[in-house]
Amino acid sequence: MAEPNFPVLKPGATIGILGGGQLGRMLALAAARLGLHSHVYCPDAESPAFDVVRRITQADYGDKAALEKFAASVDVITYEFENVPADTAAFLSARKPVLPNPKVLATTQDRLVEKQFINALGIATAPFAEVNTADDLAKAAEKLGRPSILKTRRFGYDGKGQTKISADTDPAAALREVGGEPSILEGFVPFEREISVIAARGHDGRIVCFDVTENEHGDHILRVSKVPAAVTLQVTAEAIRIAGKIATALDYVGVLAVELFVVRDGAGHRVLVNEIAPRVHNSGHWTLDGATVSQFEQHIRAIAGWALAEPVRHGSRIEMFNLIGAEIEDFARWLTVPGATVHLYGKAGWRHGRKMGHVTRVFD
Ligand code: AMP
Repeated sequence: MAEPNFPVLKPGATIGILGGGQLGRMLALAAARLGLHSHVYCPDAESPAFDVVRRITQADYGDKAALEKFAASVDVITYEFENVPADTAAFLSARKPVLPNPKVLATTQDRLVEKQFINALGIATAPFAEVNTADDLAKAAEKLGRPSILKTRRFGYDGKGQTKISADTDPAAALREVGGEPSILEGFVPFEREISVIAARGHDGRIVCFDVTENEHGDHILRVSKVPAAVTLQVTAEAIRIAGKIATALDYVGVLAVELFVVRDGAGHRVLVNEIAPRVHNSGHWTLDGATVSQFEQHIRAIAGWALAEPVRHGSRIEMFNLIGAEIEDFARWLTVPGATVHLYGKAGWRHGRKMGHVTRVFD
């Protein structure tokens, strides 16, 4: 559905970006290449995105005066993380277009609401149950079996706010481990592979997906992404259909990532949605060097009201791996490897589990 009042930005316009991490940094770099300016808003003085933009605001997300000024200085606002407070999004969207629309945040900030939304579209997820008390958890574990995974409904990422429920786990202790927060228990999915679809949806409703990506995690953190994913045509088509259906149902404008589990089912496979990320995503970083248009540019095009590209992959095979924690100290050895491109995020110091950069490798 075309939206006639949708603002179409001209080169020289300014994109407001909430969040100053590496995703904000790479969005701003893509915007700059298209002749657009960026203004990054982030509370953290050490934000990687601050290094590469014309304007920054370092203030809390609840600072109304700072938000007012920020909104006045930009033409459209987007975000690089899904935990933008609802009040902040509402305050800003009363002043400037916020894309993707803030209703998307209400769905994706809460694992329970997100899973219910996905299931209501007729799309499968891991089986789950709501957990507020140790008693709920004991009952849910009986229903869903052990092992299963307890996850807080809100603010979980890279394995934070999650714990495995094994045969001998005490429910009260497990709930304490996730801070006693409202949670869900998820049945353990014996997946064969994990894949993701990076989809872009324009304001005219057109959807363009990048090639389906295969992902490997370690300690709940994405380590490696590979394209093409080693999945059947049927799985590829189903994953792309699911991503499109979700994007349309959310009336989404911009790039979103859908993470999926591929499970063997007799002679074929089933695909279950693990998570939706309403933003550019680590598993799409390969597009920076592995395709004619990156996920970051595609997002900027969508929110600027410009035409989406039809990305063409470079090479028969692409790999992206993250430089996590101390791995950053090894970056120099990739500088001279043919087909490798090094991306460093400019973060001050490494910590265990912190994403410091990534390397893409394009193979002929
Ligand atoms: P999440 O933070 O929910 O994306 O989970 C991070 C990673 O943990 C996933 O990419 C999987 O590797 C693993 N995981 C999460 N949920 C499940 C599940 N229900 N069954 C099996 N593995 C899971």
